[in-house]
Amino acid sequence: MAVRSSIRNAKLLLLIISLILSGLTHAAKLYKYKDENGRWVFSDQKPQENVDYEQERLVVTEAQSKVSISNHGTKLRPILVAVNQLHGPVEIVLHIDQHTNMKISDTKRRWIVPGPGEKTLLYLERDDPYRSFGYRWRVDVTLGEPLEMKPIKPLKIGLPFAGGEFVISQAFFGVYSHKGHPESEYAVDIAMPRNTPIVAVRDGIVMDTENDFSRSGWDMQYADEANIVRVLHGDKTMALYAHLEPDTIAVRPGERVSQGQTLGFSGNTGFSSGPHLHFAVQANYGLKLQSLPIRFEGYPKEPKAGQLLVSNRPVGVNSSANKPTSTKQTSNKINTIVEKLLELLN
Ligand SMILES: [Zn+2]
Repeated sequence: MAVRSSIRNAKLLLLIISLILSGLTHAAKLYKYKDENGRWVFSDQKPQENVDYEQERLVVTEAQSKVSISNHGTKLRPILVAVNQLHGPVEIVLHIDQHTNMKISDTKRRWIVPGPGEKTLLYLERDDPYRSFGYRWRVDVTLGEPLEMKPIKPLKIGLPFAGGEFVISQAFFGVYSHKGHPESEYAVDIAMPRNTPIVAVRDGIVMDTENDFSRSGWDMQYADEANIVRVLHGDKTMALYAHLEPDTIAVRPGERVSQGQTLGFSGNTGFSSGPHLHFAVQANYGLKLQSLPIRFEGYPKEPKAGQLLVSNRPVGVNSSANKPTSTKQTSNKINTIVEKLLELLN
């Protein structure tokens, strides 16, 4: 089963593809129930067990929730403050596009806002206190602290899954959904059954998680609905693990994780044509979230579509992982999917 020609493997490329946009979306659960007085309550907190409730899903953009700019001053003396709820830094560029009667020397400014935290950006003032004033601004947010230089060599990392052997379905510059998207150009898609343990490729700090998306499909409307874990590494790079199964993420933002630790379980959420992991190491370079070339430990060459990756790491090493109940089933499914892929080759 392990030996296959690269030409045949190349045909596997078509099977599982996905698109991850910049990840600036956020999902939350909303619970609707009646309190003891019969009044409707809408809350993000689950009611007590004996209360009937309906659950809805809220989707808001991350730009409005996890990183935001607000006026902490007054209408006449605005103080623009950036609030970053992510557990890692972001770079913010504020553009004052239009202004009248304001003391502004520089209409474009940049800051690095550590997370979670706040940073005062600007105290805005009228030039002539007796005349009215106005301003219009917009903001660009890039995840991560900027790299001064891109690494010269590909980053060496561990495999992002445990206990199985899976085929790369799309690799660097994959034409289906990686090419043309700087944050995904050096991403790999690895075809794997749902509920495969996803593990950290390096030590780091969990910067962000999305756990609550459940929809998926081959349609742009799902492009921002992948469940993810983002881990910040010591060298300012970030690993993105995407399309994870809802409610299986085993780590929290701010948590320190070590290489090989279970982060969650694979799934098929978001813009995806089948169960797989979309994985990329990214960095903020030139005010853009860009993916970086990687090599998996034990595989000296660049990851290629059709290549088989084998992890000997035992499943469920860290007991804190919220492991789905069907681990046994998962190992059977691995064979099924490989068999199916082989069938499609003929
Ligand atoms: Zn992908």
